[in-house]
Amino acid sequence: MNKERLKELAQPILKGLFGKQMPYHLRVKSEEDKPVVRPVGMIVEDLCQLPEEAWAKYAFSREPLNGKFTDGQRVELAAKASACGREWAERLAKEHGTRDTSDLAARMGMKVDYPLMPQNASRVLFAEFKEPDKIYIYMDGVKKGKVLLDEPGVREALGANFNISRLLLGHELFHRVEMQEKDLWTNTYQLDLWHIGPVHNRSKVFVLGEIAAMAFTQSLCGISWSPYVMDAFLVYGYTAEAASALYEEMMGFAGLTPRLPQDLLEE
Ligand SMILES: [Zn+2]
Repeated sequence: MNKERLKELAQPILKGLFGKQMPYHLRVKSEEDKPVVRPVGMIVEDLCQLPEEAWAKYAFSREPLNGKFTDGQRVELAAKASACGREWAERLAKEHGTRDTSDLAARMGMKVDYPLMPQNASRVLFAEFKEPDKIYIYMDGVKKGKVLLDEPGVREALGANFNISRLLLGHELFHRVEMQEKDLWTNTYQLDLWHIGPVHNRSKVFVLGEIAAMAFTQSLCGISWSPYVMDAFLVYGYTAEAASALYEEMMGFAGLTPRLPQDLLEE
């Protein structure tokens, strides 16, 4: 497969996994740069072991203002965003007496729909929140993910009590919370882009809401791994090449060396 074909395959998918994501540019510069396809079990096994702070750089790489931050700031802000997501998961679970994201959505007055694909199916999308009260979980990607659960090592890594739709739903529910709670930390944090005397130009940092949404759904679903793992896992259902490229990228941002399929033989 040449790199143009690879890009073509990856671009529509990677533009948005959980709704409002930033475009992703697959950094394939030459044939040698092409991702080696890994078994899906290897990918989830490694990614599920990454601690929360290891996801900060990956998450920020989708942020338009990424270049304005140091690594230290990325880790610090990601930790604050995650804390905000977890705090709201606990608050809502207590208020509504449930941690089940489907029950929670109903109690929060959300209308959840499970169509096969988005109406505008020019790209693959797994879920999205539409203001003010609609959530769409797209079943094509979910079904493809379910098939992958039977691959060697996948269930062991992800755990028995994990449900793809409920996880996606939890993420989108946080966007509803963001819409309603204007004083949420992820809404109020602003980056000072520049100031001249008393005139400030500040901007919201989009990715903080995404990081918080991941921590929010992780907390509700009671899973030990970051839902960012789903970026690679669900993409694998469409193209193993793009998922392997994402895996390499995620491991790189975490400061780790991605494994190769032949490493399995040596273990
Ligand atoms: Zn989102």
